[in-house]
Amino acid sequence: MADRDPTYQADCLFCRIVADEIPSDRVFEDGQVIVFRDINPRAPTHVLAIPRRHVRSAASLTHADGDLLAALFGALHWVARELGLDDYRIVSNVGAGAGQSVFHLHFHLLGGRPMTWPPG
Ligand code: 5GP
Ligand code: ZN
Repeated sequence: MADRDPTYQADCLFCRIVADEIPSDRVFEDGQVIVFRDINPRAPTHVLAIPRRHVRSAASLTHADGDLLAALFGALHWVARELGLDDYRIVSNVGAGAGQSVFHLHFHLLGGRPMTWPPG
């Protein structure tokens, strides 16, 4: 398909969301990044910021991804402001043992309720 990113993986849920093969409730998108609402929110506001490009997890990032990371965090902070959040948490799970269930890099943005520490 013409609009698929060259790194598209057919067996990756978030690549399929990027390609619009699976619908998502997007709150931000640009040429590099999509931010959409989590299907199973764990806080009043719970969105996921992902790169359009397939990256397996935060552990796969290198210095060459500096621009991408700036775009991801810029989008997260823009969305937090847009959604009226002053305090929020940004989390990225790396590996199944840490809770990663989708192996396409994503940063969770959670807010709208008090947060406890440490996370479970
Ligand atoms: P992880 O467990 O990998 O850190 O986070 C994956 C997140 O993706 C979970 O919070 C889960 O609720 C969310 N998720 C899984 N499938 C879908 C989906 O089809 N659409 C959306 N919007 N979120 C999803
Ligand atoms: Zn992917």
